[in-house]
Amino acid sequence: MASVTLQQLSKRFGEFIAVHAVTCEIADGEFVVILGPSGCGKSTLLRLIAGLEDASDGKLLIGGREVTHVEPKDRNIAMVFQNYALYPHMSVYDNMAYGLRIRGMSKAEIEARVQKAAAILQLGSFLQRKPRQLSGGQRQRVAMGRAIVREPEVFLFDEPLSNLDAKLRVQMRVEIKKLHDTIKTTGIYVTHDQVEAMTLANRLIVMNHGKVEQIGSPIEVYTNPASAFVAGFIGSPAMNFLPASAGADGRSLAVGGLKLPLSAGTIDASRPVTFGIRPEHLAPGPGPWGELPLVVELVELLGADTLVHCRLEGGNDTLVVRLPGTVVPKVGERLGVHPVPGSFHVFDGETGRRIAVS
Ligand code: ATP
Repeated sequence: MASVTLQQLSKRFGEFIAVHAVTCEIADGEFVVILGPSGCGKSTLLRLIAGLEDASDGKLLIGGREVTHVEPKDRNIAMVFQNYALYPHMSVYDNMAYGLRIRGMSKAEIEARVQKAAAILQLGSFLQRKPRQLSGGQRQRVAMGRAIVREPEVFLFDEPLSNLDAKLRVQMRVEIKKLHDTIKTTGIYVTHDQVEAMTLANRLIVMNHGKVEQIGSPIEVYTNPASAFVAGFIGSPAMNFLPASAGADGRSLAVGGLKLPLSAGTIDASRPVTFGIRPEHLAPGPGPWGELPLVVELVELLGADTLVHCRLEGGNDTLVVRLPGTVVPKVGERLGVHPVPGSFHVFDGETGRRIAVS
């Protein structure tokens, strides 16, 4: 196991900057998930760590040793890919053993490592099968087995579950979590699936346009998003945003006819600001500061919850409210809601950075 240190790590393709000065210290044994929309640079960042792309600038250290321009095979990492990358003509056993044979490892040591990995991944009864005789989930387990037998210092995962159906993804997600709890090797995992990210990560690196937007534990990122981008990207349904304006004192916010006090931060009254609140933090009825008048436009019954899509009365701004599944408002009905105290965010309208909270 080893720590991974990224210092101002950058990658340019010609004029285009795919990864922009990323700095992060990943602790020994930590499981970090790189999350962001398509094209944000997350796979490129992982490929820089793997050595499959050469860094344009910055430094990379694994276990304290600088490896910025070291060959992938000399980095002591193992990577699991989305498309499994198994050898179709080899058995499961040989797929796992192949890399070890190439390194000249003894037969007995290979046997011990493959059997140990097969036991961890419950592949014992499939060892003589070919990949085509396995389900997608089993193939992905073999791909992980091939990484495990190498006993690397760091595991890198590039969207390993995206070829699986929804149910299998959930199962494999749980297996990856158990696997990390068992072997505790440092892991870096790329995904655009926020549920996968939230459930697997010790810490998240949220990226946008090649830059890090925020690094933090899933709960920190969810409850204290550093920017409107992070707030809108993490959470489903997404955070609601409404245009707002600062009170003259800079300590309150005017939104949808309400005047809301701020508990932290001040707002420059000359700047545009955006009010952000999660669907679960809008409660029916008037709160301490009055209520937002909404008109119900669409109701989604999810069983445990009801998602109510609404429009702010007299305007075009829309909001989603999450209510208990027992509450079923009718389309066209008026619904008054209030922001739960201590639950809303204020973002700078131009930079998107969070500047204040209730
Ligand atoms: P996805 O989820 O769609 O895989 P990603 O966040 O992993 O997206 P990357 O694959 O890292 O994104 O790509 C980041 C940006 O860099 C994209 O705009 C992509 O077009 C660009 N890019 C990646 N590889 C190259 C390359 N070899 N040459 C030029 N541009 C590239």
